[in-house]
Amino acid sequence: MAEEFRIVLFGPPGAGKGTQAQLLAEQLGIPHISSGDLFRHHLRAETPLGLRAADYMRQGLLVPDDLTIDIILERVMAINSEEGFMLDGFPRNRHQAEVLDDALERRSRALDKVVCIDVPEGELLRRLAGRFSCRECQAPHSIPQDASAEVADASPFPQCDHCGGELYQREDDRPEAIRKRIEVYQAETLPVLGYYRDRRILAEVPGTDSVEGVNQKVLTVLGR
Ligand code: ADP
Ligand code: ZN
Repeated sequence: MAEEFRIVLFGPPGAGKGTQAQLLAEQLGIPHISSGDLFRHHLRAETPLGLRAADYMRQGLLVPDDLTIDIILERVMAINSEEGFMLDGFPRNRHQAEVLDDALERRSRALDKVVCIDVPEGELLRRLAGRFSCRECQAPHSIPQDASAEVADASPFPQCDHCGGELYQREDDRPEAIRKRIEVYQAETLPVLGYYRDRRILAEVPGTDSVEGVNQKVLTVLGR
């Protein structure tokens, strides 16, 4: 069963990829590989990779391919072929998509589905400005914008719904970085959709519904 779930979750920053990926990975019993989470772990641990990626992330730019591709592919290739996986945040440009395909094809297990969660730009900006993340498990939480200033200063910090960890605002969820990330998405990441559309594995799902609503729609396009 799980061998049918080699999935990429695709979409602009703020579309809810992280939330949906976490849910789906549990429901489908497959590992969730988030490039953003992986980089943030390295950042916190101040590894050489984390230190080299930090400036790009802070500014909302893509981390260069030579720092990104190997570390993600290593994860994907470590998964045995029956298991399946949920990739979130990778690929993010055409070159990453091609390298991923090559690597999977060499092990004769191409991607099954790319699910794009789509949300209009105005809504993305609103969501990202109100987004807080868990320091421990990275789960995103939304806190209405008017309350966020208060929460950011509040002590003790609000807690994660999943693990009780402390919530914080990611540096790249601040306004200048948010604008940059959306620009980068449109210029570099969006073209990857056409690539998957041509391969007929793309499914598009509107992301404006509730978390449960979007989850249902994604499960439906996955044939569940
Ligand atoms: P978002 O909320 O924008 O989807 P992520 O958590 O997926 O955020 O990624 C955060 C940051 O990590 C990105 O803005 C980028 O700097 C870096 N990053 C994540 N995935 C990739 C990737 N595949 N290629 C290059 N940089 C990446
Ligand atoms: Zn948590």
